[in-house]
Amino acid sequence: MRTIPHNPYDLRRHDLPAILATIDAEVRERFGEGTLPEDIPSLVGQPRERFGMAVVTLDGDVHAVGDARVPLAIQSVSKVHTLTMALHEAGDALWRRVGREPSGDPFNSLVQLEYEHGIPRNPFINAGALVVDDVLMSLHADPENALLAFLRARTGNPRIGVDPPVTAEERRSGPRNIAVANFLRSFDNLACDVDAVLDFYSFHCALRMDCVDLARSVLYLANAGECPVSGERVTSAEGATRINAVMLTCGTYDAAGDFAFHVGLPAKSGVGGAIVAVVPKVMALCAWSPALDAKGNSMLGGYALHRFTRMTGLSVF
Ligand code: GLN
Repeated sequence: MRTIPHNPYDLRRHDLPAILATIDAEVRERFGEGTLPEDIPSLVGQPRERFGMAVVTLDGDVHAVGDARVPLAIQSVSKVHTLTMALHEAGDALWRRVGREPSGDPFNSLVQLEYEHGIPRNPFINAGALVVDDVLMSLHADPENALLAFLRARTGNPRIGVDPPVTAEERRSGPRNIAVANFLRSFDNLACDVDAVLDFYSFHCALRMDCVDLARSVLYLANAGECPVSGERVTSAEGATRINAVMLTCGTYDAAGDFAFHVGLPAKSGVGGAIVAVVPKVMALCAWSPALDAKGNSMLGGYALHRFTRMTGLSVF
């Protein structure tokens, strides 16, 4: 008689609280690894011995461990939300202004922009995110409030907001982003005022959310584009598939290959130390620990996601 192979998608087979507790203990043993980002003052001063992780399933279960309810600067994780809004509202025309290939370069690199005529490789490097922001600003009179409304509806949390000092600090400490934005403008790939685009970019990098809300905020990507929290369609099923594909190939910058190798999930990281990940049709996750590896991804957040997919078999491969 044939034995039925273990089906990782049957969540009753996993003791998720025990798995998260094991990961939490393993990560805490490794506190001290990685470095805090040097260019964003508010992130330099933060305590590094922190770890939180949250799993939110499509069935509505929430499992959280450690510092999962501590608000953090979501930084580039916000690029998933802005991409989702822009793709839904502008449609495929968006891909004329930004590509969907991994860059193989750091997130704030300028080099490819010159020889690729101002078309950023993908929406998750800073250049691509600035183009996405420009699209949203052309479509919304108040893009900041539109994004806040999006995040509050995704999470059911009306208190989500930004840290104004961090927004101002980001704005002052981002000479490379200023250069990238002006470069895009010189190639006619930025229609709005350069300063206004940089203000909006700094605003969404300075948004504060915790791991549970961050996991919830991308649950629509596990649910064919429909938000289980509000019941709204956030993007088409095809849009969700495509965003997941871009996350898998580009969401962790020039470490995306390694991330696919070790974790095997669509994911998006930010220099605040958070990484969100999606198990299509099953769940969304967020792991957070502030210290980063050399590519700007959370060192222990990446390790936690690696352990999760190894212990559960829930990678996309
Ligand atoms: N605010 C940061 C920057 O522009 C965000 C980068 C990140 O999270 N990778 O450069």
